[in-house]
Amino acid sequence: MWLLKSVRSANANRALTNVPGGHLPLEFGCSSIVSNQPYQTSVMKITWLGFSVGVALFALVMEGQNPTPKATITTWPQGRSAAISLTFDDGINTDLDFAGPILKKHHLNGTFFVTTGMGPWEKRKPEWKQLAQDGNELANHTVHHPCLLPEITPHSQDYTPEMMESEVAGAARQITELLNTHRGLTFAYPCGNMSFGRPQDEVKNAALYARYVSGHAFGARGVGMGAVSSDELNVLDISDLGPTAGKGFIDLLKMAEPALGAHNWGVYCFHGVGGDWLSVTPDALDELTDYLVRHKEVWTATFGDVLRYIQERKAASIDVKQANAGGFTIAMGWPLDQQVYDVPLTLQMELPGVWSEVTVTGDGKKLVPELAAQKNSTVIMVDVPAQTKVVLVSQEAH
Ligand SMILES: [Zn+2]
Repeated sequence: MWLLKSVRSANANRALTNVPGGHLPLEFGCSSIVSNQPYQTSVMKITWLGFSVGVALFALVMEGQNPTPKATITTWPQGRSAAISLTFDDGINTDLDFAGPILKKHHLNGTFFVTTGMGPWEKRKPEWKQLAQDGNELANHTVHHPCLLPEITPHSQDYTPEMMESEVAGAARQITELLNTHRGLTFAYPCGNMSFGRPQDEVKNAALYARYVSGHAFGARGVGMGAVSSDELNVLDISDLGPTAGKGFIDLLKMAEPALGAHNWGVYCFHGVGGDWLSVTPDALDELTDYLVRHKEVWTATFGDVLRYIQERKAASIDVKQANAGGFTIAMGWPLDQQVYDVPLTLQMELPGVWSEVTVTGDGKKLVPELAAQKNSTVIMVDVPAQTKVVLVSQEAH
């Protein structure tokens, strides 16, 4: 278990990118590596005999173990245990004045669901752009925040389908133009309302609303059902963890415990920070972000990037080919839109036997494998850039 832990902490600050120089000497000072040296020698000899013979003898050498490597994509990057996203609604001044600087101080990124036709969007555009350039996500919360709550204007009871479509499309256009990006946007429903118009039109309009959102976003946040299972999420209605207004650090952390305990995704929804409305104090956010930075086993990332990882993982295909004693190749398929779904996936591979050195390439470029565990088999993890077609894993003798 300690091995796994050490890998996670070593990985924790590493960006999810392809780092050059991907050669992994598997050095743990572990006696099992030394005691398996004869096995290494056998393997080298076997490879001279040719592929088909090599496979047969390799199986014998493994003394009944299955020689086929197992490859999976980890639920969260680098085998982390859960995911957290910090999201901030309404595009308000305290996003820029407090939330952004607190995230920056801790080197974390959040998601800002902005309303582009009100508040400080227009006046502070360079600052919103800078927030995105710092790695944060700017996302769609409509132009005017139409809502069914009587105390909030504009009232979406008065909206026609055309009006609601232009709310979604208009904000998407504003954000896309400011950022000059084609990575796609996510969306959050104002007040969590998923329909609009007259009560008798509720069902029909809910379907229309979902259609408008799906035309301008690759996923959407709803409200309040708690932790999200990556295998069961509704991509157009991803729950948040519930109301955060007025809560201190301890209570905020309690909200995430079910997600952390069940290895799921927890999405915080904040509004004001140190002002504006439904706010938390800057100290509460500061302590929460500090906690998340110190807990490397939790993947804290933008709403969009967590969703990208989940969707890519579920859609990707992995096909282990050409296994022999010296290595194997994995053919990967990435069927989703490559402009939007561009985050690396972490491939975990269980290699039969104890490998002392491993080299991994993705479409000919070196990747950086990390040792996750080693006993009778060798478990490695490697971040594979999106759209990589062929991963080649080979072992090298000393
Ligand atoms: Zn809102």
